[in-house]
Amino acid sequence: MRSRWSDAEAAAFVARLGPRAGADLALRVYSSRLLGADPELVLHGGGNTSLKGSVENLLGETVAALFVKASGHDLASLEPEGLPGVDLGPLLRLRALASLDDAAMETQLRGRLFDPRAPIPSIETLLHAWIPKRFVDHTHADAILALTNQPGGVAVARAALGSGVLVLDYAKPGFALAKAAAAAFEAHPKARAMVLAQHGALSWGDSARESYERMIEMVTAAERHLERAARSHPAAQTASVPEATSIDTARERLARVAPSLRGLLAAPSGDPDRPFRRVILRPLVERAILDFLDAPGARELALTPPATSDHLIRTKALPLFVATPAFDDPARLREQLRAAVDAYARDYDAYFERNRSALAPGVRRADPRPRVVLLPGLGALCAGEDARAADVARDITRQTLALKARVAAGGARYQGLPERELFAMEYLALQQAKLARAELPLAAEVALVTGAAGAIGSGVSRRLLLEGCHVALTDLPGERLDGLAAELATEFGARVLPVPLDVADPGSVAAGFAEVARAWGGVDLLVVNAGAAAVAALAELSLDEFRRLERVNAEGTLLLLAEAARHFAAQGTGGDVVLVSTKNVASPGAGFGAYSATKAAAHQLARIASLELAPLGVRVNMVAPDAVFSEGARRSGLWEEVGPARMRARGLDARGLEDYYRDRNLLKARITAGHVAAAVVFFATRQTPTTGATLPVDGGLPDATPR
Ligand code: ZN
Repeated sequence: MRSRWSDAEAAAFVARLGPRAGADLALRVYSSRLLGADPELVLHGGGNTSLKGSVENLLGETVAALFVKASGHDLASLEPEGLPGVDLGPLLRLRALASLDDAAMETQLRGRLFDPRAPIPSIETLLHAWIPKRFVDHTHADAILALTNQPGGVAVARAALGSGVLVLDYAKPGFALAKAAAAAFEAHPKARAMVLAQHGALSWGDSARESYERMIEMVTAAERHLERAARSHPAAQTASVPEATSIDTARERLARVAPSLRGLLAAPSGDPDRPFRRVILRPLVERAILDFLDAPGARELALTPPATSDHLIRTKALPLFVATPAFDDPARLREQLRAAVDAYARDYDAYFERNRSALAPGVRRADPRPRVVLLPGLGALCAGEDARAADVARDITRQTLALKARVAAGGARYQGLPERELFAMEYLALQQAKLARAELPLAAEVALVTGAAGAIGSGVSRRLLLEGCHVALTDLPGERLDGLAAELATEFGARVLPVPLDVADPGSVAAGFAEVARAWGGVDLLVVNAGAAAVAALAELSLDEFRRLERVNAEGTLLLLAEAARHFAAQGTGGDVVLVSTKNVASPGAGFGAYSATKAAAHQLARIASLELAPLGVRVNMVAPDAVFSEGARRSGLWEEVGPARMRARGLDARGLEDYYRDRNLLKARITAGHVAAAVVFFATRQTPTTGATLPVDGGLPDATPR
C-alpha cells in the first residue's frame, strides 16, 4: 500500500480550513480523508481519528481537548465539524474505573462535549484519549485482519510486523478495549503502532503525516507477509474453478431472481393497508465474487463471521448461502429461496435467544431475515432499508469475501469472532443509534414512472423522491431524460435511476422492469404516465395518427399493466399502479377524438387490472387531471403538441389558454404537476382501502365528475 500523502494537498487543506479550525485540525482532516479514500483501510463510516490540542474557554483558561471523529461520520468526506472537541481531563480520569457500560460511557462522552449540540463522539473515544500521542489513527485494514483472523492470528501478526508493533488480543470496543490498549502502550512506550486482533489497527505520531504513514507502513508489511504466504502455498493458486459463471449469465439470472428474493426478505408489518416492510436489494455481480462462490469449499468459507465487527448491523454476523440454486426452474427456485430464508430466520431467532441475556432490558430482536444472500452462479444480493444501506452491505460483502479468500490463499483457515462478541456488537446501543432515523412514508419502496421527463412525470418523480421512494425515471432515450436524471440525482443520489424505455415496445417494457430489478430488486409502484396527444376532427383524423396514439396510450398501458402483473406475482408483496388518466375520459372535447378514445381505453384497462390484480394485493387507481401546462421550466410535451391548435380554435394566446382552463373549473384553480403528484402519493401511501377508483384533479368540472 502506498502513501497518498502530498505536501501540496496538505498545504491546500491548511489554507482552506486553517483560518477557522487551526493548522493541526486542518491536517487532521486531510490525513483522515487519505485513510477514508482507501477501501482496504476503512469502509462507510468505519475507522476513526483524533487530535489532541487545547481550547480557550470563556474565562480565558486553556483546557486540554481531544478532537475525535464523531459517530456516523465518514473519514472519506470528513470536515472539521466531524471532529467534535471533548474535554480531555475528565476522560483521562475515567481510566480509574474498573468498568463502564456503553450507556454510561455515552453519557460521559455527550457530557464532555465543548459544544453540546455537536454530534456524539466515536465509541472508540477513550481509546484515542488514553494513547498519549498528538495524532492517533484507527482503521480496519484488510491486510491486518487477514493476519489476525486465523488460528494463532496474534502470533502470525507479531511475526509479520516485527517488534515495533504491539499486537493485542480481541477486546470489546469501548471501555474494555481502551483499557487494554492504554496498558499495552504504557508497557512499550516506544512502539510505533498497534494491532487489535479481529478488529483493526492503530497508529500514532507527533504529526498527521507520521501517524498516517506508520499506518501505511504497517499495512504494507502485512501485505508482503500475505504475498509470501500465498507464494509458499501453491495449492491455493492452482485450485481451479470447475465451471466459471459468466457475468452475462449471472446478470440475466439476477433480473429473474431478485424480485422473488426481495419479496421473501420483506418483513410483515401487521398493517393491513401496507402489509410489508420492504427492502432494497443491491447486487454484487463481479468476476471475483462469482469465482469465490464457484470454488470448492465456498460455502464453508463464506459462512464465517465478518472480518471486523464494524458493520454487523448492516450485514448480520452470517450471510445466507443458497447451495446449487435451480435457476432453470423458477417454481423450484422460489421454493428453495423460501426454505433457505425461513431456515435462516429460525437460526437467527435461536441465536438471539441464546444471547439475549446480555442485552439491556427493552432491546428488541432485529428483523431475523438475512441481509446478504450468496448464490453461486449469480453473485451476492445485499439488502438494506434504502439503496445507501444496501450499498454499505454490498461493499462490506465484497471486501469480506476478498479478505477470506486471501486468508485461504495463504493456506490458513479463516477464523472470525466468537458468537457472543458478534452479538454484543450487533446490538451495541451506539451502533443501533446510527440506524435510528425518521422514516419517510415511501422509504424502501421502488417506483417506475413512465413519461418521467415530461411536466407531470417529472413532478410526480420528484414528489415520490421527497417521500423517500426510489424512482426509476423512464422515458424515450435522449437529452430530456438525461437532464432530469442528472438534476434529480444531485438532490436524491442513489435513489434515482434513469431507464430509457419505449412503452409501445414489449421488449423495451420487459427490459425496463428487468433493469430496475437488477438495480434495486424489484418494483412496488407503477405510475403509467407516458402519453401522446393530437388534435383533429374525426373527419380529418388519419388512421395512422389514430394508431400512433393508440400504440402509446392504449397498447403502452396494456404492456405496462401486463408486465407489472407478472412482476408483482413474482415478488409476492402486492403493489400499486396509478394511471395518469385525464378528465377527457369522462368529459371528452371536440377535435380530441384520438386522445380521448385511446385514453379511455387505457382507463378501462386499468379498471380491469384493479379486478384482476386485487387477489395479489395490488391496488390500481386513476388520477384524472385537467390540463397541466408545465412543471418549473419543463413544458408539457403534450401541450406543446396540442396547445397551438387549441389556442387557434379559441382565439387565445398561451397565457390566455391557461387562464381559459383555470376559469372553467369551479374552484378557479390552475392545475399543476404538484397536484397530480399529490394524488399519486395519496394512492401510493394507501391512505384509504381503495382500488379501481378515479380521483379528479381538475378544480371541479361538473361534466367530468365520474359517473
Ligand atoms: Zn474500530
